[in-house]
Amino acid sequence: MRFVSTRGGMEPASFSDVLIEGLAPDGGLTVPETLPRFTAAELEAMRELSYPELAAKVIGVYWDDIAPEELLRLTTAAYGDQFEVQNAVRYTPLTPDFALLGLSEGPTLAFKDMAMQFLGEAIPYVLRQRARKLNLIGATSGDTGSAAEYAFRSKPGVNVFMLSPKGRMSDFQRAQMYSLTDENIHNLVVDGVFDDCQTLMKQLNGDLAYKASRSLGVVNSINFGRLAAQSVYYFWAWLRATDGLPEADRAGNQISVTVPSGNFGNLYSGFIAKRLGVPINRLIVATNENNVLDEFFRTGVYKPRSGAETFITSSPSMDISKASNLERFIYDLLADPTALRELFTALDQTGSVDLSEHLERFKSEFGISSGSSTHADRVQQISRCFAEYGVIIDPHTADGVKVAEEQRTPGEIMLVLETAKPQKFADTVTEALGKPAELTEAMQEMLLLPQRTTEIPADSAVLRNYIDTHTGIDS
Ligand SMILES: *Cc1c(COP(=O)(O)O)cnc(C)c1O
Repeated sequence: MRFVSTRGGMEPASFSDVLIEGLAPDGGLTVPETLPRFTAAELEAMRELSYPELAAKVIGVYWDDIAPEELLRLTTAAYGDQFEVQNAVRYTPLTPDFALLGLSEGPTLAFKDMAMQFLGEAIPYVLRQRARKLNLIGATSGDTGSAAEYAFRSKPGVNVFMLSPKGRMSDFQRAQMYSLTDENIHNLVVDGVFDDCQTLMKQLNGDLAYKASRSLGVVNSINFGRLAAQSVYYFWAWLRATDGLPEADRAGNQISVTVPSGNFGNLYSGFIAKRLGVPINRLIVATNENNVLDEFFRTGVYKPRSGAETFITSSPSMDISKASNLERFIYDLLADPTALRELFTALDQTGSVDLSEHLERFKSEFGISSGSSTHADRVQQISRCFAEYGVIIDPHTADGVKVAEEQRTPGEIMLVLETAKPQKFADTVTEALGKPAELTEAMQEMLLLPQRTTEIPADSAVLRNYIDTHTGIDS
């Protein structure tokens, strides 16, 4: 399969290329040139597969420059016993037509592990083939950095330099990241806020000569490899939701999925699965008070916010000012890279774009709708889900449950993606239930481990110097 840029300025590349390059060189995002479609019989034949087998089958659609048995070896390592449950994903029916799909059984207790554990196998594999090394640099306010560090810890050929804002993360998130002692993991605590971390990362990545000479790479949510890995659990979701049906009824049985959303990577992965043939009726975007995406899907106007206009909420992994992956959806909508390039130039100049003339197609053609929640909604859903179903959900999942409840129609089979464990967000859970979710023994031990970080000022010269010292490169 060949990959091209949403902005039309990239030579077609393979999945292996896209995995280690990340961004397209023209500033666009990489997308598959075309997608095949599985038939109902092919989907049915996936029912007996284990999660690693299913992942190899689905990811194999995109990754055709690898031997199938090699890919299966990678997915088997990626979705092994570092997950709390066999087959990586926990499917929890709450009522006959309402279920949670648990995606936070991995080492960092958030859904980012579903993609990152795969990249942690796939990227070192490609690097080894090409006799290359990669220095990954990232900026995190919590979940992404942690998932990347656990995926690449002690992996050959890879160093991780992760920038996090001083004093802005929860105790749990800090303990999870900063207690890692692997030599290739560098936790750089920046004297500043998340935006300062991101600016530093962009300064280094924008310096193309520096980037090339230091083999810098990024693993943010725009890497198509992450979307490929995330599309797998939508297949799994449909298979599990239809397991109990008579065989003749399965193919015609569609599911709807509500997705707690920030950068739109998770939902877009579902959209790809739908195009690959998974019987998905609706995909529903759930946002918190940072409702850039909800606004877009309701009005057709995309208006990214500034850092100062971004709220700090109780579902912090969804606190985004712009939704990077939306560019891929707009590419599908317009089917015209030149028009897209002009649109994004206009966006830079005026701060918003208006696609309301296509609004009708969002629902009818793409099956996407949206909603949003407030802090009070999340608290209420956490306590209701505990009272009614006996399950404790985290605030991000609560965003999803709130929007799903609001949007469900009679007879619709609705799944909500559970994107984090409640232990990670103890304050809001305590507000809802009067007590936090119980910590496992492993979690308690982790909180007590010594932490190892390097503090740096928000100064790119200091960061460059640190990277050069720790990669053995003389500047
Ligand atoms: C990253 C994240 C999200 C948002 O996912 P996107 O792919 O950015 O839309 C939601 N919930 C949690 C817990 C996350 O870590």
